[in-house]
Amino acid sequence: MARVDAVVVAAGASERMAGIDKLTVPLLGRPLLAWAVAALDLPRLVDRLIVVAPEERMAWLADEPRLRRRVELVPGGRRRQESVAAGVRAATATTVLIHDGARPLATRELVRRVADAAERSGAAVPVVPVSDTLKRVRGSSIAGTVPREGLATAQTPQGFRRELLERAWAERPPQGADTWTDEASLLEDLGIPVRTVAGDGDNIKVTVAADVARAERVLADRLAQGPRSLGRVRIGYGADSHPFGPGEGLSLGGIRIAEAPALSGHSDGDVALHALADALLGAAALGDLGRLYPSRDPATRGIASTKLLEAVRELLDRQGFDPSDVDVTIVGARPRLGPSRLDSMRGAIADLLRLPPERVSVKASSGNLSGDEGAGRAMSARAVATVSERVGR
Ligand code: MG
Repeated sequence: MARVDAVVVAAGASERMAGIDKLTVPLLGRPLLAWAVAALDLPRLVDRLIVVAPEERMAWLADEPRLRRRVELVPGGRRRQESVAAGVRAATATTVLIHDGARPLATRELVRRVADAAERSGAAVPVVPVSDTLKRVRGSSIAGTVPREGLATAQTPQGFRRELLERAWAERPPQGADTWTDEASLLEDLGIPVRTVAGDGDNIKVTVAADVARAERVLADRLAQGPRSLGRVRIGYGADSHPFGPGEGLSLGGIRIAEAPALSGHSDGDVALHALADALLGAAALGDLGRLYPSRDPATRGIASTKLLEAVRELLDRQGFDPSDVDVTIVGARPRLGPSRLDSMRGAIADLLRLPPERVSVKASSGNLSGDEGAGRAMSARAVATVSERVGR
């Protein structure tokens, strides 16, 4: 199926629970809203991830570098329906998912189910049958029992073809007099069919303090399911070699060594970054640099390898992989690669991959007088990288 866009609505005036903003209350040490947004961070299914929220509510994003890159912030409106419209109007995919920022427990399976049904039928809502007996209450007396047959509670994410929402909003503008509690009810009112899909009893909307404890139990259970739920770690290997060519100015390991001779190649010849890029691509089984950037392509002639490595990182990100640890060994008799140059490379690579420097290793060998490297005619590099496969990739 085509990828969808997702809108997480977190714009409402801060509802306070035990004196703190409900949406940023910590669940296992991470804000509730972070879990709700992460639930829709499924790069293979969700293209754009739009959060409708005031900037101050998103302060935690600073601690979530990956989500910070993914999330597009849109300011909200006065009522929920206006915030939803603002988010949906920032979307571009044919189908959008609308999710409540107070639901931290939507599973990948649920999100996929809704997206699938919305793409096929135009509008889909997850529902859970009502199991409690329902009473109509008047004052402090029971006025009657509501037959629960055919009743269900609606959850989010709800999925819609964007064009259906636009059509509904043309008749009932979101900023107009009518108020609706979810977009499904707007469509129902206009006689547009909405399909149901099976909801999930754990996918609660956190409303009262007891819900926080319940949500934490569910999350802890999921995390305790072990490595599978945390994302698998995969390993890759890359190797490359370039001869020295004419000219000065060596690009190596993401830094420039002006006084050393240049390596020749289609790009800037940064043998260390090429080996590293191949190791990362290998770990994700996404091919190799030569296949992604063929040397016959004039558009990439002389391109900085730092750009290639960034493009590889972005590709991995879209496919649901996060670089974890990298180790690069550079082999060559010249120039001399002492600790300060190696440290600079380490910092440059850490920046390019958005990793802390302690997860990056760069080593060097003179080549021990053997081969083209040892004779100073070429340099080569080998790299090993691990990437972690995101849950719900
Ligand atoms: Mg190369």
